[in-house]
Order: sequence, then C-alpha cells, then structure tokens
Amino acid sequence: GTVPLATVPDPSDRLLGGLLSPDFDDRSCLSRYRAGRYRRTSTHALSPHLVSALRRYESLHRLCAPGAPAYARAIERLRASPNATAAGDNADDPSGGAAAPCDYLVWTPDAGLGNRILSITAGFLYAVLTDRVLLLNGSRGDLDDLFCEPFPGSTWILPQGEFPVRGKLGIDTFQSLGNTLARGEPLAGKPWVYAHLVHNYLTQDRRFFCDDVQGELRRVRWLVFKADNYFVPGLFLIPRYERELARLFPRRDAVFHHLGRYLFHPSNTVWGMVTRYHGSYFARADERVGIQVRMFKWAPISIDDFYGQIVKCTHRENILPATVAAASRAAGNTSTAAKHKAVAVVSLHGEYSDRLRDLYHEHGNAAGEAVSVFQPTHLGAQHFGDTQQNQKAFAEMLLLSFSDVVVTTGVSTFGYVSQGLAGLRPWVLTPPDHGKAPDTPCRLAPTIEPCFHRPPHYNCRAKARGDSGRTVQYIRHCQDFPDGVQLL
Ligand code: GDP
Repeated sequence: GTVPLATVPDPSDRLLGGLLSPDFDDRSCLSRYRAGRYRRTSTHALSPHLVSALRRYESLHRLCAPGAPAYARAIERLRASPNATAAGDNADDPSGGAAAPCDYLVWTPDAGLGNRILSITAGFLYAVLTDRVLLLNGSRGDLDDLFCEPFPGSTWILPQGEFPVRGKLGIDTFQSLGNTLARGEPLAGKPWVYAHLVHNYLTQDRRFFCDDVQGELRRVRWLVFKADNYFVPGLFLIPRYERELARLFPRRDAVFHHLGRYLFHPSNTVWGMVTRYHGSYFARADERVGIQVRMFKWAPISIDDFYGQIVKCTHRENILPATVAAASRAAGNTSTAAKHKAVAVVSLHGEYSDRLRDLYHEHGNAAGEAVSVFQPTHLGAQHFGDTQQNQKAFAEMLLLSFSDVVVTTGVSTFGYVSQGLAGLRPWVLTPPDHGKAPDTPCRLAPTIEPCFHRPPHYNCRAKARGDSGRTVQYIRHCQDFPDGVQLL
C-alpha cells in the first residue's frame, strides 16, 4: 500500500547522499534503501571524506573478512601460535608478504541492545581509524535475524567455533591490555590483546585512550574488545586520530547519527515489524511524537510521579495539547481541519500509554488536535540474549527514529540510539530527585550525540587522574549524566 512518508526533498536519494553503498541486493535487506524515506531528512551534513573512508573500509573488509584467503591465514596463525609475536607471524607468512596481512578488531557482546549498538559503532570508528576489520563475535540469540550485513559482498559475523579466544573476558583476563601493561610487558607483538572498555575498567585499561598505547597496538594483529559504552568521545581525545577525525567529522555532533544510519539496517523480520507499526499508527498522522519511558532500578520513582512528569513535560513544551481549551486555541479557527498527532510510547511498562490514552480519550477529539496514543509492546522486564526481545527492542528504536519529536529518558542507551538515528535533539526526562519527580520535568538535549558514561578520566601525560570533560574544547560533561562526556 502507499503510506504517506516523511517529506524528503529528493526521495530518489536512496543512498543517503553517498552514505550507503549501492552494491547490495535490495531484497536481502528491504530496509536498507527504504528506511530513509520514513525519517525526516537529515539536516546533518555528511563529509565527502567520510564517504570515501567508508568505501575504502568496505574494500578492506571484503579483502579480509571470513571467507577470504587472508582471513583463513590470519585465523590459522592465531590458532597455531598463541605465543608467536606478530612480527614472527609476518616472517612465516606463506604468501611471502605479497599482500599486507589483515588486522582485526573483534567485538564481544555486553549489556542491552542499546549499549551494544553504541559499542559496535565505536568499534567501527576505531576500526576505520586503525585499518582494522571489525568482526562481531556474538553467540546464539545475540545477533540472530537482527541486523543486515552492513558491508557489501562480505560478512561482519565472526564464524563460531574456529576463533580460539574463548571463555569469559573481563577485568581479570591475563591477556587484557591493562594486565599486560601492569606486568610491564610490551603490547606490540602479542598475537592478541583484550581491551576491557566496560564501565568497571581500571586505570591500566583506561590507558587504551593514550597515544603511546595506541602506537603499541598497531603491532597487534587481533584486538578483542568488550564495551558497554559509547567510547567514541574517547577516540577524539587521542592525538594521533585528531586530524583524521576532524576530516571525517567536520561537525563532531553527528558521529553516531551518520555511522548508525550506515551500520544498522534491520533484518527483513524486524523491518516487517517496523512497517506494521508505522502503517497502523504513524502513517496517517500529521505529526509523530515518540516517547521513550525507561525505569531504572538506580533511579526509583513511582509510576504516578513519572506519569505526572511526562504529562508536565509534554504540556509545558507544547509537545502535546494541555487541555481541550488550549488545544482549540492552538488550532485557531474551528474550520481548520483537526490536526492528528500520533504518539508512540515505547516502554517495558504499559501504564504510561494506558493513562495517556485515557487522558486524550476523555478530552475527546473535539479539540483542534486529535491525539492518538499507542504502544507496540510492553514486555514487563528486560531479558538478555533473546532473539525476539532484541527484535522488538530494535523495531521500537527504529519506530521512535521516525518521529518528528522525541522524548527520552536520560542516560538510556535505548533512547540515545533512537535520537541518533532520527537526528533529533530529544526532550530528555530529568532523573528523579530523591525518588520524586524533579521540578524541571525535561530539557532539550544540547546534542544528538550519545553520552560516553564512563570516560577514562585519565591524564596520559601526567600518568594521573584527569578530567576527560576538560581536555578538549568540543568534549563536555553530559547533561543527563555529569560524570560522562559527549561531543558537541
Ligand atoms: P538502556 O538500559 O536503557 O541503556 O538500554 P539497553 O537497550 O541497553 O537495554 C535495555 C534492554 O531492555 C533493551 O535492549 C530491551 O531488551 C529492553 N527494553 C528496555 N526498554 C524497552 C522498550 O521500551 N521496549 C522494548 N521492546 N524493550 C525494552
């Protein structure tokens, strides 16, 4: 059917200004060239340098990915000689050194889907900067039927079974960057190193963000990492990447926006869910409002209070009409056709959309604005490593990204992904104040960029604690999570 889509000046621009490669089969991933038509046009300029860097990365990936001879050689060397040095590897290269061997960055899943999407994105940017090939090492349920392949003619999934680095990776892993540095051993030449970039990382692991350590890592063929964080701002703190990052992102506040739209295309199953939701609820609306309601254990608040806060925010900021009278005034003369606002509430809990629906149902559609409220799912609780849960969560992040106005819960990576894909600064619900709704119910976020919750806060030169939010001009503490930092 024909559903009215967001206005796009040039709907034929299915490649999003060169962000996407034209080299894909359309049917294997229906969303890839279609999702852009459902969203507001990006107002964030894309640099030609980023476009060419992506094409260059795609060639490298094709050359080095599973299935390619270079990959078979690299994995064989890793399996055969766990103690071999990377330099020794080169000498043994049966190709006689004809082709430069490939370097890899292996992503390890951790935490919820929002965190994962952000850590994959940060890993991808790091791979682009360091000429590594990004591979995802998910186990069953982590990645099944969720994302399309982002790189033409190859895969980003690390084949299960043949990768010799197994077992739980964590702060105690012997081969971790932090533990290796703590032992005083050089990183260069290790067959593999594990970078622990999870929120609980310690000082030595934080040195990942130091220039000298980055220099050493150039001579490590396999770098495995785990992160539950959007560590992109950390990469902007490393002097050796500064120039290239400035060329890739002359405007630094849209890194996730571009890379997220480039990397994360929902599988046909997820796209089916998204287009169903859109067709049933959003398609015929004049304005689409997405509200993401996340309740965190560490920030307890009652449903009554949080609901009150959401109503106060949406009324105060004119996102939703306050009363019938106000809505009529807003609509001006009565002959104007009623404007239809569709509100998608995305939450694990059903209460918020139920109450909002009642509110607008009671006040009727007689006002100048008709408000309809819906919620695609309310699952009650969060589960990890469950294919269907991931699919639903991803579908809802995408639906939110089709909104004209987004309201999110601060600190939620789920919300960060939605706002980033939408390219919209969200209205962020302020965290509770001692268990109660705060006086200011929400604020317009200063940037669309996600917050890096646990930056290194390490001064590489002084080898001492530092403040990552005061090192460079365009990285500041986050409004929603003051210990974190974000690009502005
Ligand atoms: P964060 O914890 O808010 O930073 O977001 P994450 O996405 O990392 O983790 C929360 C997980 O809980 C999601 O991945 C989902 O599995 C689930 N979840 C949380 N909120 C929602 C929601 O509104 N809808 C759905 N479908 N799942 C949710």
